[in-house]
Amino acid sequence: MSESRGVKPGPEPADRVVIGITFGNSNSSIAFTVDDKAEVIANEDGDRQIPTVLSYVDGDEYYGTQAKAFLVRNPSNSIAYFREFLGKDFKSIDPTHCHAAAHPKDNAGSIFFSVEDKDGESEASSVSVSEAATRYLRRLVASASDYLGKKVTSAVITVPTNFSDKQREALIKAANDADLEVLQLISDPVAAMLAYDARPEAVVEDKIVVVADLGGTRSDVAVVASRGGMYTILATAHDYEFAGVQLDQVLMDHFAKEFIKKHTTDPRSNAKSLAKLRQEAEATKKALSLGTNAQFSVESLAEGFDFSSTINRLRYEMVGRKVFEGFNRLVEGAVKKAELDVLDIDEVIMCGGTSHTPRIANNLRNIFPESTKILAPATSVSAINPSEAQARGAALQASLIQEYEANDIEQSTHPAVTTVKHISNAIGVVTVNTDGEDVFTPIMQAETAAPARRTVHIAAPKNGGDVLIRIVEGGTHIKVTKPEPKAKEPVDGDKDSDSDSDLDSDEEEEEKREKIWKLGTKLAEAAVKGVKKGGKVEVTINLAADLGVTITAREVGGKGGVRGILAA
Ligand code: ATP
Repeated sequence: MSESRGVKPGPEPADRVVIGITFGNSNSSIAFTVDDKAEVIANEDGDRQIPTVLSYVDGDEYYGTQAKAFLVRNPSNSIAYFREFLGKDFKSIDPTHCHAAAHPKDNAGSIFFSVEDKDGESEASSVSVSEAATRYLRRLVASASDYLGKKVTSAVITVPTNFSDKQREALIKAANDADLEVLQLISDPVAAMLAYDARPEAVVEDKIVVVADLGGTRSDVAVVASRGGMYTILATAHDYEFAGVQLDQVLMDHFAKEFIKKHTTDPRSNAKSLAKLRQEAEATKKALSLGTNAQFSVESLAEGFDFSSTINRLRYEMVGRKVFEGFNRLVEGAVKKAELDVLDIDEVIMCGGTSHTPRIANNLRNIFPESTKILAPATSVSAINPSEAQARGAALQASLIQEYEANDIEQSTHPAVTTVKHISNAIGVVTVNTDGEDVFTPIMQAETAAPARRTVHIAAPKNGGDVLIRIVEGGTHIKVTKPEPKAKEPVDGDKDSDSDSDLDSDEEEEEKREKIWKLGTKLAEAAVKGVKKGGKVEVTINLAADLGVTITAREVGGKGGVRGILAA
């Protein structure tokens, strides 16, 4: 994952005022750190999730919630869902979401919007995607500067993992044009992980994490190995079919049908009614994340008819079942793509606004084993607000690197997303248990990024003596145990009851799946002689940057030891 930084000479490190920014297609957020704690800033409208919309009315520029409200009354002068278009040419974009806003237009491949009333100009004027991004970022920075009482100069901005180099360059240029230095672009999933790993209660441990970033127009899943504070992205999946707007659509269709029953007219056939329907459906959807019942109420929805109704969560989950299932498939697909099993996943971090939805978190709870933490409001009391995690992570990263000279930031390694080599199999030690069976204990997990060093202590036999250490590579496989079919107990002459019991046993038990270590190539064997009674042997594995491995084994508190070097 290449990290990029601003190209324009920025302020001196000592003069910087830094924030973290998430710049989404639907919403954006700004965050800053105080005493090593990141906080998301509310703008002048009191919003922490600020709609990524600009609207031009009577020569004034509105942004955020105010601009989003104009999507009903003034859609053709409102620019929305444009972040995705940065650095792309007209032919490669999907303008679907802009149907209810200013339409993107083609100017020899580059994309622009045509709006009236911009800067007091009565003529229609064109706003390029880059200019829209600059104008919007300028508003975000102004809000942050107002809040902090000093001018914000620099930011870390998060981007999707599939943002191309061209898109990164376009974003940096748009920010620079808004007089904002880009310290670094970090990937969305890593930003969320930083927010979690920076909490005081966080333990730095080796783990495999799935980050499910479920937004308004896209859902992105990343499988990330976190090894000693280094993050390696193992697989990613991107989807534009299952996201927040599809859940809005489910509710729009549901209430439109009710409206048609009452008034025999479809509110979806008129642009203004459709926009009203969409905004209220989104509000109802959000209310259903918190409560089990929600109101839907719109004045003059269509043909002058007011409309008011209610829906409960169960009904919503039923009408939205197909979309909810889509999120499951997306997450499972990403795990598979990383050639892992759900049993390998230690945590699922859910972020992005749609992750507030209880059904999605509960569904993931059912897919993963109990040992996997599902970090979402519905499934964990310690979850970070999914709408805030990434902005917080960006702010933390900004405060970590703000004292570096711009030129050095690229070399700054903490905390880095790595493209460095990593081992594909675990390395561990094989000992023999009291039943004489080989037992594999992993010392270094698969996907550990090089260089790394890990140490374990192994108990010597009860009475001391020589300890044989076998270091091997370990792979995992999933052992599936099918439930044993119940033994048929012939009941005299009663065939029916027989087949009943068969049916029952099929339905009762599910197959059992466990992660089993499979021993691979032997790397080294060493004997530590004459270990004291009750003593321990310390085994250290040192993985060099070129994947060369050095293994040392010695008695804890004893003299000497054995050391072996294996080439990469
Ligand atoms: P994208 O770039 O994918 O369009 P984003 O990153 O700009 O998305 P987010 O704020 O992460 O935007 O997600 C916006 C989506 O989250 C919207 O569909 C919004 O309705 C939904 N959302 C926000 N809060 C909630 C909530 N409490 N319950 C359910 N959905 C919510």
